Amino acid sequence: MQSCSSTGSKDRLIGGVLILTLLVLTGVGLWKTSGRQAPNRIAPDRIAVVRRCRAVMGTDCTLAAVVRPGKEAQAEEVLEKAEAVLRRAEARMSSWLDDSEIGRLNAAGAGQQVPLSPQTLEVLRLARRANVQTGGAFDVTCRPLVELWRSAGECGEVPGRAELAEARAASNWELVELGDSGVTKLKATARVDLGGIAKGWAVDRAVDVLRRAELSGGMVDVGGDLVCFGAPPEGESWPVDVQHPLGPGHLATLRLPSGAVCTSGGYARFIEIGGKRYSHIIDPRTRRPAEAALSVTVVAADAVTADIWATALSVLGPEGLKQLPDGVEAMMMVGTEEDHKMLCTPGFHDLLEEPLAERLTVWEANVE
Ligand code: ADP
Ligand code: MG
Repeated sequence: MQSCSSTGSKDRLIGGVLILTLLVLTGVGLWKTSGRQAPNRIAPDRIAVVRRCRAVMGTDCTLAAVVRPGKEAQAEEVLEKAEAVLRRAEARMSSWLDDSEIGRLNAAGAGQQVPLSPQTLEVLRLARRANVQTGGAFDVTCRPLVELWRSAGECGEVPGRAELAEARAASNWELVELGDSGVTKLKATARVDLGGIAKGWAVDRAVDVLRRAELSGGMVDVGGDLVCFGAPPEGESWPVDVQHPLGPGHLATLRLPSGAVCTSGGYARFIEIGGKRYSHIIDPRTRRPAEAALSVTVVAADAVTADIWATALSVLGPEGLKQLPDGVEAMMMVGTEEDHKMLCTPGFHDLLEEPLAERLTVWEANVE
């Protein structure tokens, strides 16, 4: 596992005075702080210590701790611990690592319980609950379909109906029994993929570390899954840029006092077959790559909820907005690259800093 000390760097933002424009690539979103030189230099009461790390859960990450001057060393220590939490979650839950807990579970035969850590079991329980809550759209057991479409991208051929049906029958929640200390598969072919939830869960746990420390504020961003809380480096709320899915620049800037923002979209990771792009998110109902949205951004109290719904809404499209639980807000781009439109919930609209460059319809549950 790569250590951050060799890849990470530490930058500082001092008070309201911009020392550095901090551009944080969130994979699919972009977080930045920016500001103008304060007319009168006053002693800063906040310093943001920033740690950037590469190759965490298949992407880059940025962690920030906002502290009073003189507390930088503690902040650095806390950020290091938070990064370790992210890396531990990856080591446990990645389905691409044979020696992770999920790697072992996927390779296991039927009928014997595979012991798992309480953390991995918790994520699996949340995933099962999300499966019910999203009417099957969010389904971590569709790993064989994920693999089938991935290899279809490599060989350039769309899988046939029989192959798709076989991959679906090979793995589903009926074949996965969650116990108190492990999981039993009822068929050896059952496999799970926590790619749509583990990152959000890990960000929440890293944020727990920051919250427990005496910081003024903090932020963790792992490739588009972001949580911020407390005082930002400047101003009253955290600016969060959402990257435009179809080109350079950003689609929207949100202002958050605290909370999670996650973006999912087929544009960031996709496969291409015969010149057509397919999303890496699978619609478990059609067994084909999801096509309902070009990009989905979800705001929620925690990252695991936002991560789940960003993936689920990519499958469900605008219809899914009706199913959003209280406190979860979303914006999505639907249509084609040439002809698309933006939809968002009223609560999401309230968080937008400026009017969008794109046409935007505020979706009201009681109007449609
Ligand atoms: P990203 O990884 O780009 O942040 P997501 O959070 O949307 O995107 O997660 C997508 C990943 O989730 C896929 O790469 C795959 O591993 C997994 N996945 C694909 N389809 C589904 C689905 N319908 N439900 C749950 N997980 C899925
Ligand atoms: Mg997700």
